[in-house]
Amino acid sequence: MNVADRSAAIVVDGLRKSYAGRDVVRGVSFRIEAGECFGLLGHNGAGKTTTIEILEGYLDRDAGTVSVLGCDPADATAEWRRRIGVVLQDMDVFPTLTVVETVRMFADLYPDPRGVAETIDMVGLTPRSSARVGGLSGGEKRRLDVALGIIGDPELLFLDEPTTGLDPAARREVWAMVDELKGTGVTIVLTTHYMDEAQILADRLVILDDGVVAANGTFDELLRDHGDATTISFRLPVAVPADSMVAAVGVAVGVEMRVDGPQAEFASIDPQRDLFRLLGWADERGVALENLALRRNSLEDLFLSVSAEGADTGAVTGAQR
Ligand code: ADP
Repeated sequence: MNVADRSAAIVVDGLRKSYAGRDVVRGVSFRIEAGECFGLLGHNGAGKTTTIEILEGYLDRDAGTVSVLGCDPADATAEWRRRIGVVLQDMDVFPTLTVVETVRMFADLYPDPRGVAETIDMVGLTPRSSARVGGLSGGEKRRLDVALGIIGDPELLFLDEPTTGLDPAARREVWAMVDELKGTGVTIVLTTHYMDEAQILADRLVILDDGVVAANGTFDELLRDHGDATTISFRLPVAVPADSMVAAVGVAVGVEMRVDGPQAEFASIDPQRDLFRLLGWADERGVALENLALRRNSLEDLFLSVSAEGADTGAVTGAQR
């Protein structure tokens, strides 16, 4: 690593991996700064798990350079491993042990762990300390998983799908906990299928598509690079023929209209100007625009536009759950 890379927790350059002659990671490069929450996104099969397992030192790469906390994961030592926490999708724990017994057992694996009570408190499980793990709710179990990932006081935490299968309230609790964790300075590598989750938690994002980086940056940078658009929509009035209205509004506003059932919408890169023109057009003709709404593109819109068309994206929003 050169001097300029001292602040980086992870630097990946030209990473390649193939299985049985099929290239699944094809020259991936990105950098994760120390202390940031980095989101790795991509549809199923995009190469996320392969990349993460190489970073964790569990899988060999074919080519490229990788530095994780200043070391090459291919030469992983026990000391390096202790600086890294991993929260897998399903952590193996004994259902008959209590929360505090489980966290204490994991703490014993590290030379200098966090305090057991402090860690349980950090994930909000203090009231459930003496509950048996088998009796925890999905959200509580996920918080216990995170406690086990951070008990070794890692500098870097890999967080895999932290809210998959949780109800909306439990998801929000996990988000609040991850947000609090971010404040402690630990670098977090988050993989998730939930675009709302990535948008809320990740400081920076990489979207992998078929083994290559399709987008890399903050949410605002990604929107700027890939077309920062706002969707303006309204319900087509029954009194006005839809075709002629759509054509007239399209000409008046200078945009291409889309019609989805009773709703008409268009993408705008200058919503103030286009909304003004739309309202002016409607006002002149005495047309009431019902259900008028303005929505800035979300990470999900962006994800769908940069990921392979027609792929099984695996992307879901909170609203779809
Ligand atoms: P993601 O985590 O983004 O879903 P993966 O890294 O798991 O993607 O997989 C990338 C591609 O590599 C997929 O097409 C997958 O089928 C393939 N793959 C993953 N692991 C293996 C393996 N052990 N042997 C052969 N092919 C694999």
